[in-house]
Amino acid sequence: MSEHLDALYKDIILDHHKDPRNFGPLPGGAHVLKHEGYNPLCGDRVVLELDLAGGRLQGCNFHGEGCSICMSSASLMTEDLKGKPVAEALAAVQDFRDLMQGTRPPDESSEREVEALAGVRKFPVRIKCALLPWTTLKEALELKDNP
Ligand code: ZN
Repeated sequence: MSEHLDALYKDIILDHHKDPRNFGPLPGGAHVLKHEGYNPLCGDRVVLELDLAGGRLQGCNFHGEGCSICMSSASLMTEDLKGKPVAEALAAVQDFRDLMQGTRPPDESSEREVEALAGVRKFPVRIKCALLPWTTLKEALELKDNP
């Protein structure tokens, strides 16, 4: 990984940890879908609150407790996927897994901040922390179709 991406990685993790985006319960009442994910290796717990009106992630909030990587990843994910159609969000989850597991290299020309999370790969024990919000989202979207 380049020094540029390495520096970006630290900045972005810090920024989203200090000032998480889309944090807290999603206003909107009964149709909000809630789903919780837990990573026993680190103790990270993430609760997603989703509004899937019209087949899109109209609302995508999170709360919970975890390490800075997990919380930053959740914040970055909500920013990245809010407003996207469900099918695109699922594809993005798979793409992010590929990035974390090293199946694809980081795209340094991308303007998506989530690319910077590739920096987590240097700390294999943290990969599950970064993945937790994404796998929790995938589970929530699949449960919605097969309750
Ligand atoms: Zn963690």
